[in-house]
Amino acid sequence: MKRIPLKQLVSFLDRELRLSEFPDDESANGLQVEGAGQVGKVGLAVDACDYVFREAAEQKTDILLVHHGLIWGGIRSVTGVMKKRIKTLLDADISLYACHLPLDWHPEHGNNSMILKALSIKRLGEFGEYHGKRIGCRGRLSGDLSLKEFALRVDKALNTKAVTIGLGKKVRNVGVVSGGGWSAIYDAEKLGIDTLLIGEPAHSAYTLAEEMQVNLVFAGHYATETLGVRAVGDLLRGRFGLDIAFIDHPTGL
Ligand SMILES: [Zn+2]
Repeated sequence: MKRIPLKQLVSFLDRELRLSEFPDDESANGLQVEGAGQVGKVGLAVDACDYVFREAAEQKTDILLVHHGLIWGGIRSVTGVMKKRIKTLLDADISLYACHLPLDWHPEHGNNSMILKALSIKRLGEFGEYHGKRIGCRGRLSGDLSLKEFALRVDKALNTKAVTIGLGKKVRNVGVVSGGGWSAIYDAEKLGIDTLLIGEPAHSAYTLAEEMQVNLVFAGHYATETLGVRAVGDLLRGRFGLDIAFIDHPTGL
């Protein structure tokens, strides 16, 4: 197995994922827990949690790269669930690297760009202001689809069961915001986006969709956020020849 120093991997990721573009992210992006000094196997997951950590230990990974890390705004105490989680990592000498907003936004490896690709939507640009940055992606299908046809394409590409809110409008100009992010509907309306694909369903979005005449597709928070970490895994395999394992722990939400 090919191995590289942890330090080399971390500085490569920090740069490649452009962490410095999101200084206000609540997530402490970057290396959150330091494990072994040499890395041969990289685990990928959406959520930092005990199930994923135990699986990572079982699969003998040296570092875990996640979208939702353990540290948000700082550590107040290492007790209870936090103690258990960190202990599992430290006992197995596994590092934890988190990349939140930069991995939603990233033009090449980000969740939103990857979703457009997976749905064969031509990328036109960014939209959806969040923390001072347009974090979503927008694009155009090569032809009109009904909302039902589009939802089927989403289900297949993201391995999910999308919930839709539609008002009879065809799907052509699509905006994508992974995870939460339904408030991007305001920008979507301004830009003439007819269909907004987001992760988590939000009750408050219903009446806005109705009045703004924007179709909504809720594809699931988890399902919209597996593509970014997988893309980074592919990158690391290609660049450094590292062994990569995706650890799936779907929440169904
Ligand atoms: Zn998320």
